[in-house]
Amino acid sequence: MRRFFVEDITKESMSVAISGEEFLHLKKVLRLTEGTTVELFNGAGLTLAGTIESIGKDSAKIKIEGRSEGKRESPMRVVLLQGLLKGEKPELIIQKATELGAAEVVFYSTARTVPVIAAYKTEAKLQRWKKVAVEAAKQSGRTVLPRLSSVTFREAVEGRGGVKIMLWEGRGAGSVKEALKRPESKDGVVILVGPEGGFSDDEVVEAQKNGFIPVGLGPRILRAETAAIGIVSVVQYELGDMN
Ligand code: SAH
Repeated sequence: MRRFFVEDITKESMSVAISGEEFLHLKKVLRLTEGTTVELFNGAGLTLAGTIESIGKDSAKIKIEGRSEGKRESPMRVVLLQGLLKGEKPELIIQKATELGAAEVVFYSTARTVPVIAAYKTEAKLQRWKKVAVEAAKQSGRTVLPRLSSVTFREAVEGRGGVKIMLWEGRGAGSVKEALKRPESKDGVVILVGPEGGFSDDEVVEAQKNGFIPVGLGPRILRAETAAIGIVSVVQYELGDMN
């Protein structure tokens, strides 16, 4: 079933026009024809099923025939707080976190993150990240896009609810399994993963002051992106819908 991202659909939509990049994909790449059934999702939980009624020069008209339930959202709210990484790694993290059902991905800057936070405040970067999330949601069948943001370390760790774990490759890290047994997991799980250079001592102190529990992911030193993908999978296995 071909899925298209159309932000302004509503439960009352009877006929929807697909235009812009989504239209070009429909017409030029997928070469869909009239009569084909498609699914439209708005990234906020609404999915409509419909048929291509007509294909024009700049848009396609979809006759809406109903709402498709497509139950693919995670029952467990997972929030990933990820130290900003170099190159295309943020896009990799967004793609994998979306597939794995994360509700939110928050990138943060620290003394040790390589890219300066300001460079990631640009609208263009956030738009690019959103495009990655839309494609990953389309491919994985999700109807809700993860919330994406880029903040300071303090903003990332303050005011979080649920079970709060920070991945710590040092000595004294506790057990993930034990931490996830805490009753506050009913409000979700917030995971703090360090940047390429790891956490500084005062970041560890500040995270613990905000209720984050240092936990280990085994004896090997993982790259940040491996740790992030691994821990979201572990949380979904323990508490979510991957078990
Ligand atoms: N200190 C590392 C650099 C950080 S690795 C080094 O010597 O290369 C990037 C991040 O991944 C870490 O900050 C931590 O959050 C996470 N991580 C990597 N391996 C881990 C492990 N075995 N257990 C828990 N977290 C780990």
